[in-house]
Amino acid sequence: MKVLTVVGARPQFVKAATVSRAFQACRPRVDEVIVHTGQHFDQNMSAVFFEEMQIPKPQYQLELGGLGHGAMTGRMMESIEGILQQEKPDWVLVYGDTNSTMAGALAAVKLHIPVAHVEAGLRSFNRAMPEEINRIVADHVSTLLFAPTEVAVRNLASEGITGSKVVRSGDVMYDASLFYSERASGQALERLGLEPGQFFLATIHRAENVDDPGRLEVIVGALARCAQTMPVLLPIHPRTRKKLAETGLLHGVDASKLRLIDPVGYLDMVQLEKHARVVLTDSGGVQKEAYFFGVPCVTIRHETEWVELVECGANRLAPPTSVQAVVDAALAAAADRRPPPPGLYGDGQSAQAIANTLACAA
Ligand code: UDP
Repeated sequence: MKVLTVVGARPQFVKAATVSRAFQACRPRVDEVIVHTGQHFDQNMSAVFFEEMQIPKPQYQLELGGLGHGAMTGRMMESIEGILQQEKPDWVLVYGDTNSTMAGALAAVKLHIPVAHVEAGLRSFNRAMPEEINRIVADHVSTLLFAPTEVAVRNLASEGITGSKVVRSGDVMYDASLFYSERASGQALERLGLEPGQFFLATIHRAENVDDPGRLEVIVGALARCAQTMPVLLPIHPRTRKKLAETGLLHGVDASKLRLIDPVGYLDMVQLEKHARVVLTDSGGVQKEAYFFGVPCVTIRHETEWVELVECGANRLAPPTSVQAVVDAALAAAADRRPPPPGLYGDGQSAQAIANTLACAA
């Protein structure tokens, strides 16, 4: 039984790490072939995850990062199609909502190879987001859909995707947070001179925020204001760094309070998330990780796919339309020490359940 996994971007490395490990414990045996599209390629956006999380080395490295959506997706499809014809896998496994997800799913389905989609059924209901298009396409061509939550199962049902092909699996990112946070050394705070519970942790990378100068200005303004209360640590995504340099928005901002650092590896990231007073983010994965570690979160977006986090009070939406609104949300979250309800994302065994389902589905 052979599974060909397509990954390419940072969140997919985190998700795939858990399932790749689970494959190794599967009976019947699963042979996994990993294709890395190269959508993310820097040491700190890619290689560090393979090293720290002990993800098997990809058999294929496509180096297709840094292109526009059309060229990237098209060239990925072309390359993946060739690999599929050579490898003849029983399944193609894709994760999440990136161009690599959509390219892998489309290349496979056109060759009549069944597709399994991990993190199926997520919806923002905002089709201006490239991620929304990628996930809708992937879901509609998949043979097996691993939906992390009941909301995701319902979203699929409302698009006519029902029956045994939809498996409510829980969330593999929860598995990752449990497994790797035990292995995190705990030195990140010390290295960065941060006190537990005495800093904001921020990540910003979504195109809708970063590519819109008005929104980016509001976000920088809000983070700079938060930084007057306690330090804000911003491990900065390459896309965001580039836009900040182009727009000059950081001029006049106190860099000792709003602290930009290069993206960190997963083990450092979970330490920082665990000990942050509040997480401010537009990332999907980081919203959930804040919840896993019981840290209040502010999502700097108009909507979220992870609606259960907002419903239970673990997360607050703060659209980047006004500096004051984002700052108010951050300060309210900092004052909120209510523990969130447990168990929204499964039992920490989602990856093994997914691997077992695939192993038996040949
Ligand atoms: N992450 C990381 N280092 C960082 C920022 C994020 O390891 O400097 C991890 C984070 O813990 C989470 C994943 O990257 O597991 C989320 O990826 P990202 O925010 O790029 O994508 P999204 O989740 O929005 O799809």
